[in-house]
Amino acid sequence: VEPTSCQLIDETFAAESYLLRDPSSAKHLNGKVLLVTGSADGGGSMLGAALLSARAAVKTGAGYVCCSLPDGHASVMHSFAPEVVVIGRDMVSIIEKAKWADAIVIGCGIGRSEESLELIEALLCTPEIAEKKLVLDADALFALAERNLMERITSLEDAVLTPHAGECSRLSGLEVDEILSAPIDTARNLASVWNVNLLLKGAPTFIASPSGMVFISDSGTEALASAGTGDVLSGMIGALAAKGLDTHEAAAAAAWLHGRAGDLASNVSSLVSSMDVLEAIPQAILELFES
Ligand code: AMP
Ligand code: MG
Repeated sequence: VEPTSCQLIDETFAAESYLLRDPSSAKHLNGKVLLVTGSADGGGSMLGAALLSARAAVKTGAGYVCCSLPDGHASVMHSFAPEVVVIGRDMVSIIEKAKWADAIVIGCGIGRSEESLELIEALLCTPEIAEKKLVLDADALFALAERNLMERITSLEDAVLTPHAGECSRLSGLEVDEILSAPIDTARNLASVWNVNLLLKGAPTFIASPSGMVFISDSGTEALASAGTGDVLSGMIGALAAKGLDTHEAAAAAAWLHGRAGDLASNVSSLVSSMDVLEAIPQAILELFES
């Protein structure tokens, strides 16, 4: 791929990207997000990832958030994020909600069981899902590699993959060192080959489109280097995409806001948890509109 443009993004980019609610709007006009996330079996419960990503979507301003969880776990979501509607893990319920959703987040904490891999493959082969704005993270990326689904990815309508260097290595076959030594070229080439937006996590984070445009976000610090922050980012991207951005711009604006929320949280204490980042999202957004 010919190198085309690269843009370091900042609060002006985030402010221009963040779509404020119309004063007369109703909830269904402010972005409907479906998340297919979390698992309770396999290598330990990862319901926390589902909680964090769903609540992050709410905090980022989505009008309506729905989460598919394994059966029997609605109450844990409701005690953490009562505004989130919970549906089951069956294909019928998921497809029904997928038709309704403006954006769909798949993968955070969904696990690597045979059942999860099957589900992810089935979801990506479903037209009602493939035509939506999609955020594929964490174990959804594992499933892509494990099930050889990269062909599938090229035909998605508007999707973003959000790997860290290790996940990117598994997906691409490149060594982590190769990725880290040339992250811009790597992100740009893979986005082009896979015909999908690619957010390569790190410090900074690179967000490449298939046409070669790369946004660079350098907000945030090592305060974000703890479990769960990636799940928060996925929910934020889902919300911005559901509110109307394409997944390339949504991923870039969310990456910047996520880092900024981390900065705000770490001013209060140098010990930052993903929960702190989550709670700082509204402040990070509010700041964009204070002059
Ligand atoms: P994950 O690896 O999926 O949990 O995602 C971690 C998130 O935290 C990503 O958005 C990273 O970009 C961010 N992050 C992790 N470490 C750092 C760091 N040292 N500086 C800035 N951001 C970071
Ligand atoms: Mg992650």
